[in-house]
Amino acid sequence: MSAYEVAIKNFESAAQTLELKPDLVSLLRYPERVLTVNVPVRLDSGTVVRFDGYRVQHSTARGPAKGGIRYHPAVTLEEVKALAMWMTWKCAVVNIPFGGGKGGVACNPKEMSDGELERLTRRYAAGILPLLGPDKDIPAPDVYTNPRIMGWIMDTYSMMKSDGYPTPGVVTGKPLTLGGSEGRGEATGAGVYMCLKAAAEHLHLPLKGSRTVVQGFGNAGSVAANRLDSHMSRVIAVSDSQGAVYRKDGLDIPKLILHKEATGTVAGFPDSEPISHEDLLVLECDYLIPAALENAITQDNAGRIRAKVVAEAANGPVTPEADAVLDSKGVFLIPDILCNAGGVTVSYFEWCQNEQHYYWDEHEVESKLERIMTRSFHEVLALALDRKVNMRLAANMLGVLRVAEATAGRGLYP
Ligand code: GLU
Repeated sequence: MSAYEVAIKNFESAAQTLELKPDLVSLLRYPERVLTVNVPVRLDSGTVVRFDGYRVQHSTARGPAKGGIRYHPAVTLEEVKALAMWMTWKCAVVNIPFGGGKGGVACNPKEMSDGELERLTRRYAAGILPLLGPDKDIPAPDVYTNPRIMGWIMDTYSMMKSDGYPTPGVVTGKPLTLGGSEGRGEATGAGVYMCLKAAAEHLHLPLKGSRTVVQGFGNAGSVAANRLDSHMSRVIAVSDSQGAVYRKDGLDIPKLILHKEATGTVAGFPDSEPISHEDLLVLECDYLIPAALENAITQDNAGRIRAKVVAEAANGPVTPEADAVLDSKGVFLIPDILCNAGGVTVSYFEWCQNEQHYYWDEHEVESKLERIMTRSFHEVLALALDRKVNMRLAANMLGVLRVAEATAGRGLYP
């Protein structure tokens, strides 16, 4: 199943359970705007290569389109459409005044020099410029993009749209010096941890002394692992695209973070054993955090998952078939559009600070984030218990309902 098929299937289940009117269903099923851009880049060698770039706005019913930009060889328009739809429901689940969008360039940034990456970013930003603006569409980081890249997007927009004067609110996840927010770098992982804390209380499964497995050690996975580690959960295995490591009594996460910074991978970490990616996912543990890409848990491995809780730090890591298997095994799932919403929530704080020209300290960001994540977790849980549905369906229902209400409230133009 492609990410887009997964997104549509999950949307349709929610729409059906909510008994949404067919005209609303067909409105919400399709993205509002889709832009494909040709991105030619001069490489350091002098040759020019071209890449496909995309920006999709799924819905702007509740506010400007919001969502990250992904640089990855596997990016396709279909995937970006799925990710844009998930952003719409995600912003609605945490009830922040944004719609959903996503962008991507099909490229391998790991093979590009800094100069090539900057030229690619500026040319892509120039291509999607007609869609962007602090009240229109606000990108952010996603897989293999980072604050530095957001800084180049902010600069390109400012040079082209406002005579060089800065427009920080056009993009979030910027470096602090350019109007980024305190806490944005940690936000996705912090939100995952906050959801796990709420789930642990609900399930009476204390984090202290528990065992956690993390698939993906990027921004979301490493921060979540670090927070769990400092709250006495033993993180027994972690992986990244180049390898995976295991230690029965728990890995030394602060040291592992330093090892990854120094070598670029978790592989080869001293005081650990190597383990395969497949074996890592089916380790016996309390908390399993898929924090990489889509389709990590499918019908092929779902039956062998031995975690009590699956917390989706990535977008779309569990397919609908796998959902059904996990459900029948009694696994408690914290769905992506809730679990990883900490990132976009602090993006919202960043945008508010940019628009107000007034900046908050780390404590203020953290406590506001915790309030939103905990409230959203309990809203989804209450709906799940009330309607006797699983957490995935409950989160989709909450998100879809809020967007449907806004869409219906605005009426049909003209
Ligand atoms: N890319 C992140 C996500 O998938 C963050 C989006 C944002 O901050 O706008 O939620």
